[in-house]
Amino acid sequence: MSDWPPRRAADALQQAGDDRPATRVVHAGLPAAQQGEPFLPGPVLAAPFHLSGPSHASRFGYARYANPTWDGYESALGELEGGEAVLFSSGMAAVAAILLQRRGGAGAVVVPGDAYPGVVTIASEQLRPLGIEVRVVPSDEDAIAAASPGAGLVWIETPSNPGLAVLDVQRLAAAAHAAGALLAVDNTLATPLMQRPLELGADLSISSASKLLTGHSDLVLGYVASADPERAAQLRTWRGLTGAIAGPLETWLAHRSLATLDVRHERQCRSALALAQALAARDDVRDVRYPGLPSHPAHALAARRFGGRYGSVLCFDLETEARAQAFLGACRLVAEATSFGGVHSSAERRLRWGIDAVSPGFIRLSAGIEDAGDLVADVLHALDSAGPAHPEADAPDQARG
Ligand code: PLP
Repeated sequence: MSDWPPRRAADALQQAGDDRPATRVVHAGLPAAQQGEPFLPGPVLAAPFHLSGPSHASRFGYARYANPTWDGYESALGELEGGEAVLFSSGMAAVAAILLQRRGGAGAVVVPGDAYPGVVTIASEQLRPLGIEVRVVPSDEDAIAAASPGAGLVWIETPSNPGLAVLDVQRLAAAAHAAGALLAVDNTLATPLMQRPLELGADLSISSASKLLTGHSDLVLGYVASADPERAAQLRTWRGLTGAIAGPLETWLAHRSLATLDVRHERQCRSALALAQALAARDDVRDVRYPGLPSHPAHALAARRFGGRYGSVLCFDLETEARAQAFLGACRLVAEATSFGGVHSSAERRLRWGIDAVSPGFIRLSAGIEDAGDLVADVLHALDSAGPAHPEADAPDQARG
């Protein structure tokens, strides 16, 4: 067995368990200090590794199965999630690894209709033809709990993208387990800084690391964390067989970016709240959704569970495609782009993809790390430039005829 990267001494790991998340993200997964060695060892670029003698002489034989750079980042993610993390080439590869291992006879799969569209598509288009019952339900605790009996896997996303529904993981874990099903939680929007699904009873915590976790809009990765080592081993086997593996360069960049997660996230959440409050105060913006606003239906749950943060993403409705596009075109600091969680603020009109069940003027906005005051000023100015919500209401009297 190779001992690279060197693992932290057991007593140091024990102490690390007491550290607060802001401290953990800085040190998670780093090897113990060694004279003359870097803090974070560089990416290991390899296909085969030297391997003489029996195949088990080293864990590192061929890089589709193991790579030391994955080890460092996975151990960091595992520390943050409170389980064992398995890294994948993307969030969707992580999703697919869970869903596509379902077998006929293993019970139904329950998915909320507003889960990330790829999840619903895999369930409907790949699992159903295999004879697996797929129950697509609203993103609502009662509906999900009611659909759990007879299920083998219950999937939830909280907060959901882009509806920003917030669900009680603990309650739904109990409902899933009472039905003999596993609970999988897509934790992408929350990050382990706001919510640790395994601690709340979930069996699997899935994230796209392409977003907040890495935060620089420069790579695509995903992972699954599980408290059950056997389940983690199955996921590793699946990854090796399907080749859904992360490149070592991206993995190294992701690990390097982890150290700034807490400072990025804190700023992003504060700015998102300031933006949500500023938008909610306008009478020309409809349906401002943000778990940090008291008007959010699950604000009390979010306040209890998320440790005082509410996420970097907010949504609102500008009613028409024309006004939404005019708004996006008038923003100076908010880039028109899909995805979320990056250091640069971004927004998009979600219906341009034709997938989500949202109105034509529905905007999802991701707050970056720019100054909050600058961001609010930019967004309010862009709204003013986009024109009134009801042009006819603001038209001069004589023009109304
Ligand atoms: N889950 C959620 C909530 C997402 O928003 C996304 C992507 O937007 C994914 C999963 C898929 O992740 P990736 O794009 O890394 O494959």
